Amino acid sequence: MKHGRRDFLKKAGILAASGFVLPAATGMNPPIKNISKKYKGSGKMKLTYKEYELQLKHVFTISKNSRTTTPDMQVQIQYEGYTGYGEAAMPPYYPENPESAKRFYEQLDLGQFKDPFEMEKILDYVDHIAPGNHFAKASIDIALHDLVGKIMGYPWYKIWGYDKTQAPPTSYTIGIDEPDMVKQKTREADRFKVLKVKLGGGNDREMINSVRAVAPEKPLYVDVNGGWKDKHQALEMIHWLEEKGIVFVEQPMPDARKEDIAWLSEKSPLPVIADESIQRLPSVMDAYQVYDGINIKLMKCTGMREAHKMLNLARSLDMKVLMGCMVASSCSISAAAQLSPAIDWADLDGNLLISNDPFEGVLVEDGKLVLPERPGIGVRQTSEI
Ligand code: MG
Repeated sequence: MKHGRRDFLKKAGILAASGFVLPAATGMNPPIKNISKKYKGSGKMKLTYKEYELQLKHVFTISKNSRTTTPDMQVQIQYEGYTGYGEAAMPPYYPENPESAKRFYEQLDLGQFKDPFEMEKILDYVDHIAPGNHFAKASIDIALHDLVGKIMGYPWYKIWGYDKTQAPPTSYTIGIDEPDMVKQKTREADRFKVLKVKLGGGNDREMINSVRAVAPEKPLYVDVNGGWKDKHQALEMIHWLEEKGIVFVEQPMPDARKEDIAWLSEKSPLPVIADESIQRLPSVMDAYQVYDGINIKLMKCTGMREAHKMLNLARSLDMKVLMGCMVASSCSISAAAQLSPAIDWADLDGNLLISNDPFEGVLVEDGKLVLPERPGIGVRQTSEI
């Protein structure tokens, strides 16, 4: 699969260099029209980056903290007249921040690569510059995918061979709050087909009852963020949640309690999904036989390349796949959405929680994710960064 894709990408480059455009009869639709215009495969990639503060519409509370803004880095890779956009959205409870990202970017020399189609080589280089820095690495990965997709003239869901009509609805997150506020947020989320309710703050039944008072039938996901401490109480709560129409339970207990979680998953009538423990590809194996599924987030796994590998590995292990996100702009959310036709559940609402999104990309129509036809990650910049 991987080699097939690379061959395809390479061939596209050769075709471009010869000015050749694939005929419609090959089934490639639309043709790779952009390649012949500018792409020469001998330019120089230039990385630029800028700190950007995402403003939240509401105070956002999970079991760990509350906040009104999220630090963010917006990056661009320029090459032969094309611009690839990327983003590192950096919630304060993770170790990375704009300063660490800048230090990471300063070590990079993307100018040494002549051809952005050599994605494996470039991203391996980026990965080995320094350990960690997953969010910063994700921003480069996303910008490179956007760049290559734009040169080819295709969105990534199409390059990967997915049917965009299979994209699931996205859930919209209701943070831990007082009953009146939860009811108000549930009313405001009327256009979403699914809600994700944050639990683990000590008022779980009150949270669910408040949501159910406004949305009695809507499917609900719950995310405990490791907030439950006792497996027996957790199982009792999951049985209660099942009666309330909950679809799955995310990170019910801290990941360090693997034996308790494996016990819980085995007895739980609802799928138990790993989030906090899921980082990169090897963590999928760690979650296997402990959880029923995984939550993939681009920021934690270093971007689209690794997310795609994780998705394929999880599928081969018959695990469920949820895609989640940080509070972020439409840049990284649209990048994640390129994989969404192949997943079970989407929680890609991070861009809908902010009031200063500088991009337009994936849309939510009738609750469903609607992938744009634009190439790359499918975004266009709509305001100054
Ligand atoms: Mg989560």
